Amino acid sequence: MPLYSYKCPSCDHRFDARHSMSAAPPVCPACGHESVQRVITTAPAIAGGISTPAGDGHRASKEQLKSKWAEETPKLRQKLESKLGAETVRRNAPSLYSNDD
Ligand SMILES: [Zn+2]
Repeated sequence: MPLYSYKCPSCDHRFDARHSMSAAPPVCPACGHESVQRVITTAPAIAGGISTPAGDGHRASKEQLKSKWAEETPKLRQKLESKLGAETVRRNAPSLYSNDD
């Protein structure tokens, strides 16, 4: 079953719930609010870097980001290096080099 992320508009509580796609959204476990908001987690634009909100605990989306990152980083790095030179890129975007295998 897919894991969904929700945010309660009433008390701001964030939580994950696992249920089938056709099931009704859960109520907020903190305050019992019935119309919690589905949080759509999407990969941020690669140029903006990877940022994971602190204390979020979205393990699934983190894995997605990781594979996306591993796929996109070499391409982006090459593009930047041909434009700016390897030294400049290394100095300004050291994170592009941290996931090398
Ligand atoms: Zn709540």
